Amino acid sequence: MAPQLISRRVVRMGEQEGEEKEGQEVTEVHQSLQSRAVEAMDNMWHKACEKGEEAEIYVEKAMKKAWDAWKTCHISDLPSWLQDNELLHTGHRPPLKSFQACFWSIFRLHTESVNIWTHLIGCIIFACLAVYVYFFNPHPLHWEDKLVFGSFFLGAIICLGMSSSYHTFACHSPHVGRLFSRLDYCGIALLITGSIVPFLYYGFYCEYLPKVCYILIVLALGVLTTVVSLSETFSLPHYRPVRASVFTGFGCSGIIPGIHWFFSQESLHLSSLWYSLLCLILMGVLYVTGAILYALRVPERFFPGKCDYWFHSHQLFHVLVIAAAVVHYNGISELALYRLTSSSDMCDAR
Ligand SMILES: [Zn+2]
Repeated sequence: MAPQLISRRVVRMGEQEGEEKEGQEVTEVHQSLQSRAVEAMDNMWHKACEKGEEAEIYVEKAMKKAWDAWKTCHISDLPSWLQDNELLHTGHRPPLKSFQACFWSIFRLHTESVNIWTHLIGCIIFACLAVYVYFFNPHPLHWEDKLVFGSFFLGAIICLGMSSSYHTFACHSPHVGRLFSRLDYCGIALLITGSIVPFLYYGFYCEYLPKVCYILIVLALGVLTTVVSLSETFSLPHYRPVRASVFTGFGCSGIIPGIHWFFSQESLHLSSLWYSLLCLILMGVLYVTGAILYALRVPERFFPGKCDYWFHSHQLFHVLVIAAAVVHYNGISELALYRLTSSSDMCDAR
């Protein structure tokens, strides 16, 4: 073999060796980077797990602390500002003095537990319903419909949310208790306003003048009831029958336009209109029954000390409020569906 050829081959072999070495080094660097990345991820995962465990322990400790911090007591051990219903003898929360302790008390059983949870669950149900109506509705809504349904959902969500908050924080202090009770009554006024407006809007769909007049009257009554609800005296325990009467009176103000509507609808034989009317009546019956039970404190009036945790008048009132609101939603949905799916010249044809 020629010496030149030999030397070229030697050079080539050297080059190949160099390339192999370089490749090997790159692979090694790659592998080490990979293992470092895996290690870093592993560390992060462990740290996240540790933090998660720490958070879990913290929550557990906070709950235990809140749990051990107080015991339910007899009504005679309560300060006068917490003695709302003397027919409930035991199971009362003492004054808790911190928002945190009040919040954690929702997970314990006492006279307010069912009051808190009934309206908290109701609030969540109506929030989900609102999401469904606005985002997953098979019938597209115009802005007016969104506004009208919005008044109902806003009234229901605020009312139930405020009510649940009031029952949670009422035992904080006299000042906080009074503040939340006034917000609770404002919520009721909003719910009644938001319930009547959709019925007036879809009921008098084609009659512009009565529709606008009745809606304006209801809004004025709503503002008036809200202002009354905010007064200090209105939330005092012995004003219970007055409160029940004010809200019942406001709710019953819907009867006049209801009668007007009943006699002005030539097409009332249509099943959807009848269904809406029945819903309206059933809703009224549920609200009035709830208000009567609340004002007369039935059944604890007949079984003092026996309904401390379960089935006392305020709990029944809460359940009836949710039932009435659900019935009401069905009624306005049916009426709205009838109006929105009828021919577009329905109003011109009259
Ligand atoms: Zn309540």
